[in-house]
Amino acid sequence: MAMIEFKNVEKYFGNFHALKDINLTFEKGEVVVVIGPSGSGKSTLLRTINGLETISSGNLLINDQDIRSKQTKLTEIRKNIGMVFQHFNLYPNKTVLENITLAPTKVLNRNEKEAKDAAERLLDRVGMLDKKDSYPSTLSGGQQQRVAIARGLAMQPEMLLFDEPTSALDPEMIGDVLDVMKQLAREGMSMIVVTHEMNFARDVADRVIFMADGQVLEDSYDVEGFFEQPSERRAQQFLNKVV
Ligand code: ADP
Ligand code: MG
Repeated sequence: MAMIEFKNVEKYFGNFHALKDINLTFEKGEVVVVIGPSGSGKSTLLRTINGLETISSGNLLINDQDIRSKQTKLTEIRKNIGMVFQHFNLYPNKTVLENITLAPTKVLNRNEKEAKDAAERLLDRVGMLDKKDSYPSTLSGGQQQRVAIARGLAMQPEMLLFDEPTSALDPEMIGDVLDVMKQLAREGMSMIVVTHEMNFARDVADRVIFMADGQVLEDSYDVEGFFEQPSERRAQQFLNKVV
């Protein structure tokens, strides 16, 4: 069953047509990479999935629930579909551990001990356990992003969305964050990743989507084939520039 389904979705910002007739389904367990030039609608696509942007027309179903239906609770969707942003947005006056236990205790009503144990396991997984009592400002960007990923995982989401998670990082920090994401992908986490890291895309993606001007121009399960020889000229031009 499709977990996410876009049917003829359009998105306008005023007169600007940001998403054009989007028809896509995402299944549980898929690792999908979304690439394309700046301004092509990649972030907008992700943001509609957890209701950070509304759609203008068409249907967007999350686990068979229409995102625009009155019965649909965005808070439930956001519990189930986590998002990791370019700028990690950790709470500056909370420790690393507190950043991770906050939502599980407040939103999922986990008890403190349970939440703390789970947070420590997640921090260990992203290689940040030794920094659990540190404050975000004392960490590098790459370390903060790994904490942000652990925070996303703490809600035990069915899927994680990543919007250029390494774009704001110094080059020497990127590898550690990508390694954490690769590990998640191997463990079967459902992920949609907007990225300019083409080696990462080639390495982990089950499927690659290429967007330009608000449209999906390619949607391929033959990831290696796409990178060798995309069928769209726009995709070829894009790859020539970034690779
Ligand atoms: P990408 O992530 O591929 O770079 P975006 O989804 O951020 O692209 O943006 C697609 C287009 O929509 C861009 O031209 C951008 O300027 C425009 N856009 C995005 N968000 C808004 C907004 N809140 N208001 C007006 N225009 C927007
Ligand atoms: Mg973007």
